[in-house]
Order: sequence, then C-alpha cells, then structure tokens
Amino acid sequence: MSTVDASTDIPTRLLLGSGPSIVPERVLQALAQPTIGHMDPAFAAIMSETIALLRDAFQTENVATLPISGTGSAGMEALVCNFVDPGDRVVCGVNGLFGNRMADELARAGAEVVRVEAPWGRAIEQERLIAAASDGLDAMVVVHGETSTGVAQPLDGLADACHERDALLMIDCVTSIGGHELRIDESGVDAAFAGTQKCLNCPPGLAPFTAGERAIAKLNAREQPGRSWYFDLSLVLGYWSPEQSGAGARAYHHTAPINLIYALREALRIAVGDEWPPSAWERHRRAHHALRDALAVLGCERLAPDGEQLHPLLAVSPPEGIDEAAVRTALLLQHGIEISGGLGPLAGKLWRIGVMGAGARREPQEQLVTALCELIGVDSTEPLAALVQGWRA
Ligand SMILES: *Cc1c(COP(=O)(O)O)cnc(C)c1O
Repeated sequence: MSTVDASTDIPTRLLLGSGPSIVPERVLQALAQPTIGHMDPAFAAIMSETIALLRDAFQTENVATLPISGTGSAGMEALVCNFVDPGDRVVCGVNGLFGNRMADELARAGAEVVRVEAPWGRAIEQERLIAAASDGLDAMVVVHGETSTGVAQPLDGLADACHERDALLMIDCVTSIGGHELRIDESGVDAAFAGTQKCLNCPPGLAPFTAGERAIAKLNAREQPGRSWYFDLSLVLGYWSPEQSGAGARAYHHTAPINLIYALREALRIAVGDEWPPSAWERHRRAHHALRDALAVLGCERLAPDGEQLHPLLAVSPPEGIDEAAVRTALLLQHGIEISGGLGPLAGKLWRIGVMGAGARREPQEQLVTALCELIGVDSTEPLAALVQGWRA
C-alpha cells in the first residue's frame, strides 16, 4: 500500500490576518479522530458538551444555542431567514463590509432596510440607532465586531429601544466571540451568530448561533414555514436539542459535519474551558495594545479611535512611503506570516492584523514585529521593547 502525504504541498503559516486564525495542535488532532455516525449516542454526548461550551462563549442561558453547519455567513443567513419576515422594517447598522453584507442579506429577504451608517473606522452612535428605531421597527441588526475596520460597536441602550417596540435586537459577533467583551443575556441580545475561525481558533465551517425566547416566539408564531428548509431552526433544533423543541427523540435533519464538531468542541475547551471568558477578553485587550504600541514606533496609526477599537482586530495604516501590498506578500512568502490588507474603500490603506486566541500572545507578535522590521529595513530593538512593555503594563 502506498502512502500519500497530502501535507507536502501545504506550507507552514503563522496566521495573523483577519481569519482563519492559528489552529492549535489539539484542535487539529480532534479533527482527525475517527468519524462516527451522527445519530450515535456517543456523538449526542459530544453535541451536548459543545452546546454547553457555546453558552459560556456567548454568555447566555439560551436553550436555542448550537453551531449552524456552514461558515459565519451561514449564521447570518440563518438569522435573517428565521427572524425576519418579508416586509419587516429592520434598522441595520452599516460602518464596514460586514454591515453592508447584512443589509444586502436583509434586502434579499424582502425586509424594508433602514441603514444607519457611520464612516468606515468609526462606531455608530447609539443615539442614531435608537432614533431610527423610534419610527417603529421589527428588528435591529448591528455588527458587534466589524472585522473590515477593527471597530467594536457598543450595544448599550439598543435592547431597550427594540424591546419597547416589540422588536428583536440581533448581532453579528463573528470576530468578537471569545476575544472581546460580549454578554448576550446581559446586553439583551435576542439572537446572534458567530464564526469558528476567528478568536475560537477552529477551522472555518461552522457558525455558532444563539436565540432567546423572544426570537423563538416570533419563529413559532409564523403562519407559513420560512423560505429556507436547511436553516429552519424549528427543524434544526429537533436534531440538536429535541428535548427543548418538544420533539422527544433526536430527528435526522442533515448530517452534521461530525469531525468539525469534534474540532469546535476542543477549540471551545481551550477558549472558554481552560480560560474564563473575562480573562480571555483581558488578554486580547493587552495583546491589542502591546502590538499597537510596537507598530506605533514604526509609524503605523490605528484606524479606530480610542474607545472604539475591536481588540481581536488591529487595523493600522502602514508606515509612510511603504508599499503595503509588497510587504504583506513578502511577509507571507519569505516569513510564512499572514496578515490582511484593507477592503473596499480602505484597500491599499490598511494592514489588518488578527489578535485572535492563540494569536493574542507575545511570541507570535514578536515574530511578526521582527519580520516586519526586517522587510521595512528598520532596527527592531525599539518596537520589540514597546511590545514587551505593553505586555507588562
Ligand atoms: C468573517 C466574518 C463574517 C463571515 O464569516 P465567513 O466564515 O467568512 O462566512 C461575518 N461577519 C464578520 C464580522 C466576520 O468577521
């Protein structure tokens, strides 16, 4: 029997871009465990543990918490097709690429979309979102962590503005989950979706999802089934949480991506089991500021103003006179380090650096700063000292 080493053409990379992020060995090993049947009781136990860990990651007690099969964008699709009806008036915050994508998704679902915009690189003032809600609404959607710009959206006051009008508050927390303070229940968020390949350090392919009672009540009140069969939560919950959906025994809906769920469970054991979420958020905060200080020595300026930054994603201007794309390419091909560039109106103007899970540590940041200095042709002593100082602070 011949053995084929499929890994020979896969290079070693240090993933410090906007995602996917570094996948730890423990998670890769979980992924490589033997596939078992998706109705096997042993798999049911793995599903239950995954759900419990996801509740910790979201900081929620929501019964309807599960990984949707598909990437983060599948979570967005699931959110909209379960909780937005054609003709609904939906206030949508747009201050970057992912807010735009959400507005597009909502419009395709037949919603009347009220866009509340802010410049790319700024948070949206809550007063403006609340003012848009005062004309009546069925839902509000905001991107909690805008990965295209590195901005965090404050949620204070939004839930009250929605709930007073019997509307749902829903968020995209793909990049914030596990890396930036996020408390679904305390913030009054009714439904949220996330991704696995940002701060959770799992390969892409699943979308952690949670929905509270208000959202589920809206779903149950539907007179006609929603337009998507695959993402219909009333069916999906019969597979993931039959005791909750009243279905009794678990019913086959679609074949869960078994091995990816092994990987997610292991990633969550690391992200929220080995480390309590508030201490993980604090580590991401320190890592963000340490790297920001180191890059400031090189003349890089952060796009997000103080207080609006998203800790897991540091978006900075490249140093003056530097060909940002050429440096990024050399970083990848010569040093095996991936960072991301700007998107849309910010293409060519930004480096977007992931500070996500295993990437929110001193060692990978030292590697990045050292390599960047070499490529730019400057001495790394001072930037590295700033990095170390930042980690001590
Ligand atoms: C990455 C990302 C998504 C999309 O996730 P995919 O896994 O690429 O489908 C959505 N929203 C935000 C904020 C993201 O960072």
